Amino acid sequence: MIARSLYIIIVVLIGSAPVFSQPMKNWCGTIGEYQEALLERLERNKAALHDSPVAFRDIQYVPITFHLIAKSDGSGMVPKHRVLDQLCLLNEDYADLNIQFYFRDGFNYLLNDELYDNHSENTTLLNLSTDDQAINIFLPQDADPPNQVGQGVVLGYYSPAQDWLVIDKDEIGKDGLTFTHEMGHYFSLLHPFSGWEPNPWDVGTHGTQVELVVAPDGQTLVELANGNNCNSAGDRVCDTPADYLFGFGWDNCNFNQNVFDRSGTLLNPDEKLWMNYFFNCDEDEYYYTDMQQQLILQDLESDQRAHLRNGTTPSTTPITETPDGIAPINEEKINIYNAVNFSWSEVAGASSYLLQIARLPTFSTPVVIYDEVINGTSHTIEVLEPNVTYFWRVRPFNAYRTCTDFSRVYSFDTGADATTQTNDLVTAFIVEQNPIQNRSNINIFIQATEAFTGNLSLYNMAGQEVSTFGDRDFNLGENRLQLMPGSLSNGIYLLVFDTSAGLMTRKILIKS
Ligand SMILES: [Zn+2]
Repeated sequence: MIARSLYIIIVVLIGSAPVFSQPMKNWCGTIGEYQEALLERLERNKAALHDSPVAFRDIQYVPITFHLIAKSDGSGMVPKHRVLDQLCLLNEDYADLNIQFYFRDGFNYLLNDELYDNHSENTTLLNLSTDDQAINIFLPQDADPPNQVGQGVVLGYYSPAQDWLVIDKDEIGKDGLTFTHEMGHYFSLLHPFSGWEPNPWDVGTHGTQVELVVAPDGQTLVELANGNNCNSAGDRVCDTPADYLFGFGWDNCNFNQNVFDRSGTLLNPDEKLWMNYFFNCDEDEYYYTDMQQQLILQDLESDQRAHLRNGTTPSTTPITETPDGIAPINEEKINIYNAVNFSWSEVAGASSYLLQIARLPTFSTPVVIYDEVINGTSHTIEVLEPNVTYFWRVRPFNAYRTCTDFSRVYSFDTGADATTQTNDLVTAFIVEQNPIQNRSNINIFIQATEAFTGNLSLYNMAGQEVSTFGDRDFNLGENRLQLMPGSLSNGIYLLVFDTSAGLMTRKILIKS
């Protein structure tokens, strides 16, 4: 929908001429040289299908890696829950094909101003980042391909040479054609109106009987309505009707203009194809035709896609619950602000949680101040400000199950007190999993400015030492250690870290 509204805005800005007489503002960048490069694969897939048709089979799980591009300071990144939503939507759209996608290895983050501003001038960096065992999806600020900069609004494209997809981050995780359409290109499908991209049908230019034999791109044969030349014209797929790009700018899901092909047969495009440009059909009506489905399955079977067939099945345990917030307690006024511990209940099936903290309960950007994946049920946040009301929520997911909603929204107020977080020797002292299961280890992360020896011990809230871990040597840089406190009664304890530069403490909660 955004594509259309942007297009209309541009047209209005240019002048009052009818929509169709304006130069094409591309909705999809998989045109020109990309489309030509796809043709070869399409023909190979067609030939393979002709020799041995693909049989529908059990669910195939396909690894995917999303590359989230942001400015160097981390701002501008797509909100991560929208990527979860996108995977959920994609899996709905591909359920009929028995193809399901999963995150091969979480998100990849690319924080780089130049990449954010212009990904197409920095393809070396993209190349270095590609995951050679997954489908690669890059999510920049805008998706103008290298060969089309300035031509219009490009919401996504597939580069056959690089074998990656680039999708405008604003298109992620919402209804609309973009993502599933581009995934069709990834699996070798063309537009049903192939050849008409530079210049859509327009009654003033092409008339109600279209006499062209070669489409406006100068090379694609114009497909006839009766399908006689469907193997060599248009998208070369015979169960998608001939289409001369009637959908672009059409504001509903029923194209009812009387347009005839050169043999005088009425054209009847299929508005509901994912690969078409009709934006105004019901979301759940879009589909791939039988032949398109066969081609997708054949492409996945091909040698070029061997890297995707790794035999891995992700955890398919459904995630049916949302977590309950534990800390900070809802509507609590806490004393401190610079080391606030968040924790929530574990949810069956979840391997990760998306924690969001915002200034408003709507969680709309830019008031989301924290949006990170946590592999556990607890995390300490050090970036909050004093005397502020915050809202937080948490969303469980795993590599394949990403449709579960967020928890309810909780709020709390920070106080004005700063805890002593660091000293000259120690720039980070973090208890990584908190609360701690009774009899489990305490995992500590310490960042040191130089090598030194320090002493760690555990006190109960009555001030009695309950465990001592003795002197420990720390290296310059990152240090991780596990402390074994043994069996303790449930409750709050104080972990004391004694260094020559000062004493630091962390509250920990032990529970069964
Ligand atoms: Zn396209």
